[in-house]
Order: sequence, then C-alpha cells, then structure tokens
Amino acid sequence: MSRLAGKTALVTGSTSGIGWAVAQALADEGARVMLNGSRPAAEAESLRAALAARCGCEVGYAPANLADPASARDLVAQTLAQFGRIDILVNNAGMQHVAAIDEFPDETWDQLIALNLSSVFHTTKAALPGMKAQGWGRVVNIASAHGVVASPFKAPYTASKHAVVGFSKAVALEVAELGITCNAVCPGYVRTPLIEKQVVDQAKVHNLPEDRVIREVILAAQPTKQFIEAEEVGALVAFLCSEAGRSMTGAALLMDGGWTAR
Ligand code: NAD
Repeated sequence: MSRLAGKTALVTGSTSGIGWAVAQALADEGARVMLNGSRPAAEAESLRAALAARCGCEVGYAPANLADPASARDLVAQTLAQFGRIDILVNNAGMQHVAAIDEFPDETWDQLIALNLSSVFHTTKAALPGMKAQGWGRVVNIASAHGVVASPFKAPYTASKHAVVGFSKAVALEVAELGITCNAVCPGYVRTPLIEKQVVDQAKVHNLPEDRVIREVILAAQPTKQFIEAEEVGALVAFLCSEAGRSMTGAALLMDGGWTAR
C-alpha cells in the first residue's frame, strides 16, 4: 500500500516504542519521515538507515529535546528545511513518572508537563501554517486511555493526557474547514520501554513481584489481559493519516483492550 505517497511526516519521540512503530507504518505507506528522539546519535542513525533501506523512502533524524520550547519549534523548522513541507505531525514523545501526589517531585511535574503537553502546543503551532497553506494536514496526538480515565499515583500524567485530548478537540474545530484533521489516539497498555519502566516502578509502589504487577496492577484495568502491540497503534495512525480518515477529527480514539468500557 502507498496511501501516503508524496506526504512528509514528522513523528516526535520516534526512536523507540510507539513512535518507532508509527514512523515505520507511515514509511511503509510511502511517506517521507523525520525521526526524533533522545537516543545516542549512533543508535538513532542505525534506526534511520534501517528504515530508509526497508521502505526505500527518505528518512531524516533530528535529536531535539522536546521538553524545551525552542527545540520543539526548531524541530519543525529543521523538518521544513530538509523536506520542504510537513503534511503529517504525530506528537508522540512522552514520559511517565509513578508516585503518590504528595511525594511527586516538583521538577518532574515541570518536565512531564513540558514534554507531554507543552511540546504538543509548540510543534502544532509551528506546523499548522504550512498545513493551512497546503490545504491538507493531519495532526495525531498520542494521548492515552489516561486521557479519558484516571489511575492513582499517575496524577500528573493523567492531567497531561486529559489536556492533550482537550487540545486536540479545540485544534480540530479551528481547522475543520481547511482540510486538516486533529485527533488524539488513546491507547491502553502498549508493550514498550516506557511500560517496562512502569512495571519496575509499580512493583516498588505496591511492594509486589513484577509478574504479579503485570497481571494484577498494570493489566488489571485491561480486560483483554494482553498488552497492545505498538504496531497496532501504528496501523491506526496510518489510517487516520490516509484519505479514508478525512472525516475523523476532534476524536479521542480509544485502543484500550476494553479498559474504558467498564
Ligand atoms: P518510549 O519510552 O518507548 O518512547 C518514548 C520516546 O520519546 C522515545 O523515542 C524517546 O527518545 C522520546 N523522548 C523522551 N523524552 C524526549 C524528549 N525530551 N524529547 C524528545 N524525545 C523524547 O515510550 P512509549 O511507550 O512508546 O510512549 C510513547 C507515547 O505513547 C507517550 O506519549 C506515552 O505517554 C504514550 N502512551 C504509551 C502507552 C504505553 O502503554 N506504552 C500507553 C498510552 C500512551
């Protein structure tokens, strides 16, 4: 399939986990892709080269720290400089920190909000003028099931993801007549390095061994009792970015193994 031939996509936080799967799904559909992440340069370069070789498309890499507003804006500028346009913006970079609210470090709150929420504002603000001029665009924000429901010990993450869902709806309304869609994708638990870290953190919080934390704590909320695979999220994003997704906008799309059906 090459539903995205001729399109250019910027995927933030795409050297790992969901972002990497999204970047691959978009490249497999023919898009040129700008990767971004916080991995060492040599690792990022080998990912970039592997993806370019596999899909036969142009793939770039820019190592911006998205928790810094100027770097977030500069990432958009670098993508425009290299590819000349951005048709698809996937705001995926994010972090989690699990702790009781009265023990949550102030500096971690600032960092989490800067990365999970403010970077979405800065990259979207910088990318929208080009999309408006083109009369076509797709903004996909990787929120979370925690954009619609909450869990204890995750108040800052839950707040950031609820905010991303609200931001996505408001942007969708603003650009609804301009050929641009904006959606929030809300996955449940996806098997990625971020979740592997949570298993360790939750084991400490709940004082349980890791195998019990996976089934009794992490997947307790997910009725399928299975992790979602990052490739499933990639396929949903590729659909939203295709012509078939043109009427889906302002939505919080749940892929949560039935979690929020309760
Ligand atoms: P991950 O830790 O595997 O990947 C995070 C990516 O973000 C990496 O590429 C990393 O390099 C990048 N990154 C981290 N800090 C950065 C920074 N300051 N600047 C630029 N890039 C940075 O995580 P993941 O599980 O793939 O999560 C990706 C997104 O999906 C996050 O927004 C997360 O909240 C969301 N999400 C994850 C799950 C899950 O179960 N894994 C569920 C719902 C939502």
